[in-house]
Amino acid sequence: MALRERIAGGHMALRERIAGGQMALRERIAGGRMALRERIAGGHMVLREKKSEDCDMERNQILKIYGTDYKQMTKTLLAGADLAAQIADRNSRIALKPNLVSASEPSYGATTHPEVLAGIIEYLQENGFRAITLMEGSWVGGKTMEAFRLCGYDALVEQYGVRFVDTQKERSHSVDCAGLKLNLCDCVDDIDFLINVPVLKGHCQTKITCALKNMKGLIPNSEKRRFHTMGLHKPIAHLNAGIRQDFIVVDHICGDLDFEDGGNPVVCNCVMVARDPVLVDAYVCKLQHYEVDEVPYVRLAQQLGVGNADLAQAEIITYEKAAGRGLSGGAVPDASGAADEQAVREGFGAADEEAVREGFGAADKESVKKGTPCFWRQGAMEDEELPRARKIVELRDAVEEVESCSACYGYLMPALERLKNEGLLNRLDEKICIGQGYQGRTGKIGIGRCTSGFEHNVRGCPPTEQQIYDFLKAYLSSRS
Ligand code: SF4
Repeated sequence: MALRERIAGGHMALRERIAGGQMALRERIAGGRMALRERIAGGHMVLREKKSEDCDMERNQILKIYGTDYKQMTKTLLAGADLAAQIADRNSRIALKPNLVSASEPSYGATTHPEVLAGIIEYLQENGFRAITLMEGSWVGGKTMEAFRLCGYDALVEQYGVRFVDTQKERSHSVDCAGLKLNLCDCVDDIDFLINVPVLKGHCQTKITCALKNMKGLIPNSEKRRFHTMGLHKPIAHLNAGIRQDFIVVDHICGDLDFEDGGNPVVCNCVMVARDPVLVDAYVCKLQHYEVDEVPYVRLAQQLGVGNADLAQAEIITYEKAAGRGLSGGAVPDASGAADEQAVREGFGAADEEAVREGFGAADKESVKKGTPCFWRQGAMEDEELPRARKIVELRDAVEEVESCSACYGYLMPALERLKNEGLLNRLDEKICIGQGYQGRTGKIGIGRCTSGFEHNVRGCPPTEQQIYDFLKAYLSSRS
């Protein structure tokens, strides 16, 4: 109500200002257009000259945006990608697949921020799509609904009236995924258009995780365990041949570059969108300083026809706002946000559309509201460089892993890091064994139920990080 009143109160005054200012604005646009193009052509900014009719996103493109208003950033990207035009019809059953790997807040660096999902849902609902379902299941040992509540998804689902399916509670069925039979959750059959919303992160076993691996949330826990017995990379690639991702919105806000369950977030404040999950993961390899071939499932997925990992053919396009440059700058310099929305409806929207037709790309309502012009800028691969997070490499040396589940290994690594920081890890002179490959075997020291035949063992399937830490600390302390 307060917003409507503010709009109503400011409406008349604003309309007058618009009437007086609109012609001047159009003249400024017309007069400034050439100058702007010259500046762009001559400077480092390269404007993506696309007309509205061909602004649909190509499969070799990745759009990026930076900032802290994650919901609005997401909506801006979806408008730029013209997502609505990619969905067959308004009755399509749309699934959003976030990452709720474990019960930790998004600021911890592991789970998808609800604001990104809010941006997607608002965009879809504003474009007439109603059948929207969130689908996700936490990793083995975690409870999806704990993560659901902790990450604020309960409020999200209630606010927007969308469904949530906990895939840990779903039945499953076998599907031939490009020659490999895999068990998929039944809900996968209820998807017409799948929007994957992964977090860009490091992973202690596969090095990176983003678009392709996030599909593991659509298989049951028993199948997640089996994936590790199959070497992880091959089934991940085949899974993506069996479940087609139609669109990807990457939460690149503050992912942990070492551990997939977070704890060391690296703030990047970025959201990205793309259509090709293989391209996304190849780009994530690049960002995290890996060669694509160091993450075998990316190339395997390409070989199965899921997408294209060739970054030489990729277009990285960044959305930018540049204060004081061209277009609508200064059009509504001191209007409140609410009144500005009205301004868009009353006429600035038209000026904006004209700008788009003329090739200025994505000058959107938000830019008009803020009186700030915006651009799609053709970027270079080197535009962004993430820190070389390699804590995991030294820790991995202490471990002998055979077919370990993600959760088990994921809990071991931070426990080892704590012991290393306490100066205890160098007391270890044998390898710590972990994984399903040790079932029925004997040894010195092991983690989890699978190593129950070992001389020293912490029980659990998986044991928690704290249990592992306590167990190893007691073991190492006894060796001093
Ligand atoms: S104990 Fe074995 S089966 Fe259980 S989570 Fe660990 S590796 Fe997987």
